[in-house]
Amino acid sequence: MTVLPRAWALATMPRPARHFVLAVDALYLMALIAGGMRTSFRTTDLVTAGVLTGLAIVSIETSLRFVWHRPHGGGSTNDLLAVWTLPVALLLPPLYSALVVVPVLLFTQVRVVRRAPVKLIFSIASTGIAGFVAASVHEAYFGSGTVWTPETLVGSPRALAATASCVLVRYVVNLLLVGQVVALTKPKTSPFALLKNRENLGISAAEACTGVLVALACATALYAVPLAIPPVLVFQRTLLIAELRHAARTDPKTGLANAAYWREVAEREIARARSGGESVAILLVDVDHFKAVNDRFGHLIGDDVLRAVAGGLTHGLRPRDFVGRFGGEEFVILLAGSDLEQAAVAAERVRQHIAHLTVDTPLHGDPVSVTVSVGVAAFRENGHSVLELLDAADAALYEAKRAGRNCVRVATGVRQQVLDLTGDTPRLIDLRTERQPIVD
Ligand code: GH3
Ligand code: MG
Ligand code: MG
Repeated sequence: MTVLPRAWALATMPRPARHFVLAVDALYLMALIAGGMRTSFRTTDLVTAGVLTGLAIVSIETSLRFVWHRPHGGGSTNDLLAVWTLPVALLLPPLYSALVVVPVLLFTQVRVVRRAPVKLIFSIASTGIAGFVAASVHEAYFGSGTVWTPETLVGSPRALAATASCVLVRYVVNLLLVGQVVALTKPKTSPFALLKNRENLGISAAEACTGVLVALACATALYAVPLAIPPVLVFQRTLLIAELRHAARTDPKTGLANAAYWREVAEREIARARSGGESVAILLVDVDHFKAVNDRFGHLIGDDVLRAVAGGLTHGLRPRDFVGRFGGEEFVILLAGSDLEQAAVAAERVRQHIAHLTVDTPLHGDPVSVTVSVGVAAFRENGHSVLELLDAADAALYEAKRAGRNCVRVATGVRQQVLDLTGDTPRLIDLRTERQPIVD
């Protein structure tokens, strides 16, 4: 089930988005009325709907601490609730799909996160419509009143096509409704932006497959369906891996890659350059007189300045270029495909861009701006490993500082250290003290 982003609220929403939300709510009401008029209630359907709703609630309740109440919980795009709500679309008349989301989302409202009523209603309406349309498509294959068995769910090409259509229609309708409101709320966002995240697509596919298995279990023996709870809970926890991996790679203050992850990516690019003959360059960027900024404005403003610099460093870079925070007020930029000359041009552009940034200081009045010094080094010209390039860029940065700061210096061809890979174990050779032949 796709859930709306947390920052979303009707009061601050642009007018087209507000109209869209109200239209979706009205459509949901019409689906309820149309469904209510054509549905004859059967005890078995009511029991199935009750069991699936109950299991959805149990799965939320039992994973509250680990999944829903974690720092960014309750707003993730994959909450796995479709494991329980997709079978409703596959097994029961469309009205049930429109209704089942009401208790489930109300439960998350009470136990997980309080959303603005308008957001809650839109979430119910969009997921309810998606389920209703999907169930109607599924029903259209075999006619209403079909008793769903494993045979009619997956036992023939036609049954498989019906089930696959139901899954896809449910996913696409939900994605379009939520994607559209996000696009109308945030300019320059495509309604298909949610599709870009491949990891989410994989999780949604796994969620849908599990939903189909739960539907098969329902059609076989309803009392066996709770067996799905433990694997679903484990599945839910595995989703945290992506979040933890992101946290392990990110510098929390600036949102840039941390030094370890930057290094990992840089090693990969260098290896690629080594085998493919491509160019790679790095820029080592150090904020000038940053201690004075802290001393004058305090560390909190200092942090704001660091964030502004971090944002500025990504300005104008190409998709494969990669910025990391090296530590303190030092940053490092990997320029994939750039030679020394192109990197020097990029460095100058970065330097100028940062010099024009300003950060407001509400308590001090004057906005603060900083400059940076940049050292540039390139693969082959200045070294053959990340370590050698960093060493050369560091020497160039030192030269930039000595030249008065707020400038760019390019590493000279002289390498001070090289990695000797000729022996059994790699060895760092300091060329200033140890003259060794360089093996390319
Ligand atoms: P230079 O032009 O020679 O680079 O001078 P500098 O003052 O920038 O260099 P120095 O190495 O003397 O000081 C770096 C300062 O950066 C000192 C440290 O307090 C500050 N700093 C490092 N990390 C952070 C941070 O995360 N937040 C803030 N606010 N300051 C930081
Ligand atoms: Mg500095
Ligand atoms: Mg420094």
